[in-house]
Amino acid sequence: VSASDRNSFLSRLAEIVGARNVVVNAADMEPFLVDWRKRYRGKALAIVQPATTQEVASVVRACHAAEVSVVPQGGNTGMCGGAIPNDAIPSIVLSLSRMKRIRDVDPLNDTITVDAGCLLAQIQQVAAGVDRLFPMSLGSEGSCQIGGNVATNAGGTAVLRYGTMRDLVLGIEAVLPSGEIWNGLTRLRKDNTGYDLRHLLVGSEGTLGVITGVVLKLFPRPKSSLTSLIAVPSIEAALALLTKLRADCGERITMFEVMSLNEFDLVLAGQPDLPRPLGGDSPWYVFLELTDPLATANLNEALETSLAAAFEDGIVTDAVTATSLTQAENIWRIRHGVTEANMRAGISVSHDTAVPVSSVPDFVNRVDDEISRRFPDVSVYYVGHLGDGNIHVVAIFPRDDYADPDHFAATLAEVNAVVDEIATSLGGSISAEHGIGQSNRRRLAAFKEPLALDFMRSLKAMLDPTNIMNPGKVI
Ligand SMILES: Cc1cc2nc3c(=O)[nH]c(=O)nc-3n(C[C@H](O)[C@H](O)[C@H](O)COP(=O)(O)OP(=O)(O)OC[C@H]3O[C@@H](n4cnc5c(N)ncnc54)[C@H](O)[C@@H]3O)c2cc1C
Repeated sequence: VSASDRNSFLSRLAEIVGARNVVVNAADMEPFLVDWRKRYRGKALAIVQPATTQEVASVVRACHAAEVSVVPQGGNTGMCGGAIPNDAIPSIVLSLSRMKRIRDVDPLNDTITVDAGCLLAQIQQVAAGVDRLFPMSLGSEGSCQIGGNVATNAGGTAVLRYGTMRDLVLGIEAVLPSGEIWNGLTRLRKDNTGYDLRHLLVGSEGTLGVITGVVLKLFPRPKSSLTSLIAVPSIEAALALLTKLRADCGERITMFEVMSLNEFDLVLAGQPDLPRPLGGDSPWYVFLELTDPLATANLNEALETSLAAAFEDGIVTDAVTATSLTQAENIWRIRHGVTEANMRAGISVSHDTAVPVSSVPDFVNRVDDEISRRFPDVSVYYVGHLGDGNIHVVAIFPRDDYADPDHFAATLAEVNAVVDEIATSLGGSISAEHGIGQSNRRRLAAFKEPLALDFMRSLKAMLDPTNIMNPGKVI
């Protein structure tokens, strides 16, 4: 882009959103050009912060005219570098951070309609204010935006009970790559009027359009809840316990997370103020939450009865149920402390694999055998959403042994291939909830069915023939 073209392009953007909302100063742009894990760094002509859907549409049209690509960005908490521009292509980062309006709350219809830039935590609070629950819950909820959650089809800890983002979205408003505004903000639970563009945009990671507004489902707010940490002797026992609790407690299970002993120890070693909730060591731990909309539901009794039988069957060896909010919070702090603990321990790479729930033990045992045999200096830890079949295999490479980036990259590719091949052989997916972005493109190309990839490319070419919307991501 020549200097004069660049200046006239930036002036046009300033006319649309106001000069102070076109950030060009290097220091001010910096936080938008590095992902939170500091793996990707990009360049942009500007960070542009529109306040309305109309402004987003005008910005996209201006980018079209100037042949500049648009990289939508929410809270920049994504795991795969999807919100960071590619250096090769002149780009702007289109930040939704000024679009934070709650447009409508309808407790009778159990829906909330919001701007895409609303923080996830903000939506949870507004829902609670009308005695409703918006159930999506992520470690990043204080900084990720609902538009980013939709664009990545986020998962989190309550998927077992409420589903992924795809299950929580009723309607979407988006600016398409052409600059047209698609108003799909329906509040309907039933609408069979042809193909559903909403489901194309969910999980599209900014490659098919900019999501500007969303209609979300609300749920009854639980009035009783119970948190328990349960020691189990093996991953097989964890699965048996899940099956038993589902039969006994049904929909009351909102969270059922598992963690291997070495990951549990790693988290606690880094947080000495955190009490160890159970004495002794157990090969695996289950983090369980039960909830019920009835204030009088006796969750304790229901769980105690189930656990007593599970002890007898040998699938549970110890358990503690939180008797105070602080105790419950301390148990969940262990679960939420994983990412930081891993980053402290070495060069950590977390795989985001999904396999059928019934295949999780097979998956874990095969990955364990294969990696310890082929890469004895790489440590493997496990944490994940067992109820969704989504286990994060965390490979930690000792920093000293892998200081050479080429050595690290080559070994990582082999470790990835081991995990991906085992997952695929079990009918699994290489990305359960984090998406593809920049980091998983090659792996997607290697493991996705060719016909599905062709179909994705055709859709992209149809909606975005000049490839201005987040190029170099996903496909
Ligand atoms: C501590 C921590 C815990 C996490 N836990 C989980 C978890 O349990 N489950 C999970 O699924 N993820 C998790 N994440 C990852 C991340 O928070 C989610 O992917 C989240 O949905 C991203 O939202 P964001 O607003 O930060 O999006 P960004 O990172 O800004 O963007 C992500 C992608 O979406 C696109 N995008 C963003 N906004 C829009 C928009 N309005 N329109 C179109 N495209 C857009 C971007 O171009 C990019 O491709 C975690 C992250 C952290 C830091």
